[in-house]
Amino acid sequence: MITTHSLGFPRIGAHRQLKFALEAYWKGEINETELAKKGQQIRHENWGIQANSGLDWLPVGDFSWYDHVLDMTTMLGVIPSRFKVKNDQVDFATYFQMARGQAPYGDKIRPCEMTKWFDTNYHYIVPELNQAQSFQLSSFKLFDEINEAHALGYKVKPVILGPLSYLWLSKTNFPFDKLSLLTRLIKVYQEIFTKLLSLGIKWIQIDEPILVLDLPESWREAFVKTYHAIEHEKLNILLTTYFGGLGENLEFTCQLPVTGLHVDAVRSFEQISKVVEKLRPNVILSLGIIDGRNVWKIDLKRTLHKLKPLKQTLEDKLWIAGSCSFLHCPVDLDTEITLDKELKQWLAFSKQKTREIVYLAKALNEGEDAIADVLAENQRIIREKQHSSRIHNSEVKKRCKKINELKLERNPYAMRRKLQQEVLKLPLLPTTTVGSFPQTSSIRKLRSDLKNGMLNIVEYEECIRQEIQKVIEKQEKLGLDVFVHGESERSDMVEYFAEQLEGFILTTNGWVQSYGSRCVKPPIIYGDISRSHSITISWIAYAQSLTYKPVKGVLTGPITMLMWSFVRDNQSRYKTAEQIALALRDEVIELEQAGINVIQIDEPAFREGLPLCEKQRAGYLKEAIYFFKLVSSGVKDSTQIHTHMCYSKFNEIINAIAEMDADVISIEASRSNMELLEAFKNFSYPNEIGLGVYDVHSLRIPSVREIKKLIEKASTLISIEKLWINPDCGLKTRAWSDVDKALKNMVKSANLLRKQYVKN
Ligand code: GLN
Ligand code: ZN
Repeated sequence: MITTHSLGFPRIGAHRQLKFALEAYWKGEINETELAKKGQQIRHENWGIQANSGLDWLPVGDFSWYDHVLDMTTMLGVIPSRFKVKNDQVDFATYFQMARGQAPYGDKIRPCEMTKWFDTNYHYIVPELNQAQSFQLSSFKLFDEINEAHALGYKVKPVILGPLSYLWLSKTNFPFDKLSLLTRLIKVYQEIFTKLLSLGIKWIQIDEPILVLDLPESWREAFVKTYHAIEHEKLNILLTTYFGGLGENLEFTCQLPVTGLHVDAVRSFEQISKVVEKLRPNVILSLGIIDGRNVWKIDLKRTLHKLKPLKQTLEDKLWIAGSCSFLHCPVDLDTEITLDKELKQWLAFSKQKTREIVYLAKALNEGEDAIADVLAENQRIIREKQHSSRIHNSEVKKRCKKINELKLERNPYAMRRKLQQEVLKLPLLPTTTVGSFPQTSSIRKLRSDLKNGMLNIVEYEECIRQEIQKVIEKQEKLGLDVFVHGESERSDMVEYFAEQLEGFILTTNGWVQSYGSRCVKPPIIYGDISRSHSITISWIAYAQSLTYKPVKGVLTGPITMLMWSFVRDNQSRYKTAEQIALALRDEVIELEQAGINVIQIDEPAFREGLPLCEKQRAGYLKEAIYFFKLVSSGVKDSTQIHTHMCYSKFNEIINAIAEMDADVISIEASRSNMELLEAFKNFSYPNEIGLGVYDVHSLRIPSVREIKKLIEKASTLISIEKLWINPDCGLKTRAWSDVDKALKNMVKSANLLRKQYVKN
């Protein structure tokens, strides 16, 4: 018999209960007991859903108050010294202090850093290690939750992050070999195992997602050493890998002394035959066959066809699961009550995906007849989807075929610069912002009033125009050089464009955790993408009509649209991105026709899209450059194209970014104290660049002196004529009072610097 299991279920609750409970707790509206109760309800609900679906092993330890890496950190007692731990157990207060700097009460302390979890939009809390790091079991959360599940009669498999992935994902106060901590770290894992056995646990799932990365030899050796050390005759280890194939790590991973190995069969089905061949005898192979990173219903027939030969070879040693934890999928499609019926039946969220796992196993165990009705219905839906007129747009396909007729290269930058200077007449060190201005509660109310009919469209648009007028006046007063319209009509930079473009659909409840209590609702790309009407023109043209200063039109770029959406599964991502780029190209051209001389194409997700595997990176960058040119090359030389990127390090890929040939790029740099500048020691950036001088993600206002210093530092590596002065991201989440102060300082430092440089 084939066994079914899940690597993890979303922890936010079908109605984002966790978010609301956490936020109420942080505001002091509910106490710890009430919060604990909410969490318990979610866990019970999740187990209930999975058990009702018929899953054999339910996960425990996948629930987290904030982040599962932080859970591991507290379990291992890796508490940086600035946080105080009473007793030897990490309490709620310390846990939230580490995550966000402040529990509801008590001191404000610098929180731990947060960064993206592999190539997802989920953020984990980065563990901080020092060379003398000690580890001790400091949280019983996992054991308590096991007891809780056992009390309800569930058969559970605890989930923890493996020692090597834990070390890999952590940061150190200064460079030393993190592997030197391994011996100490392993001891706590062994202690955890002993405790699990005493609770009657048979299987433990150990996540080692770094096995899909390119690992140095020392880390591969450490895997072998570690897994021999923690091997336990009574406890079965299921070693899980996901987000890609094992690549160069395949052979040694298949030889590790574990009882089961889970591999990602969605992103890398081609690795399976080799894994089967190399796996030690009697080791269980768990196939992650249901996509944990997307929302499409599986084609049961096709999948069964792929699985049958494996079932024949592996028999009972075959397990079936999601490719990764369902953390990255929305919870329950049943809560989508307003979603268009045809589209809805093409989808599966976590709850529905859990059922798919069970259907597959049932058909393999008992024969297809055992799920005859389900299978027939599934085939009908898959067929209808393939042929649906909603998916295919012949105009779009025709246009894509003729892309090679477009001119994608602009004239050389030097030529463009001259013409742009004539049009824009900008001073040395021009100042600008990245696009959005504070989204106050009154702006958010406008949108919700429009949605629920309290405002009609005419009234709504009038209010947005007033908002635009306000931010133009503000910028005028501040004395910035290139203005923006403030993006007050946009709830979210991806959602807004997805709402306007054909081929995208938005759900009402398809939330996915991004970090802590913050959830995002990625749009779904279901069909060919086109632009049936202008999107931003009227707002930006209106803003431009209010001032003599240039107003920058801001759009979301194709890579970001793709990365922050659920992408269709019946066409290559390349083609889908190409369609988005073409649609945006039209928008850019229309902006220019409307008299907009500066246009910014935002690509905050550019770095995130970089493949985990080194080998695939060059290909990605080449494509990304092409998409960017497709969007931006339709304009005159005198039109200035900007791009904006943030969230992460760009040092290794700065030359690829330069090849995109934007006239100006604004890029995150202030948070790392201009670490990015290192890249310019060996590489001369050809065009203009704004190194963000105001870290909008922190509450600190940069002083005039500080900004001046940053720019002076930058000017030692980049010629002053190429530099711009701007914040490092949009100002959407900031308060006006902060924005006013920060921008004032920015403009002031620009003025001082101009005088200084003109004198020299
Ligand atoms: N233009 C967007 C804004 O200012 C950019 C956001 C981002 O980079 N994440 O909000
Ligand atoms: Zn940004």
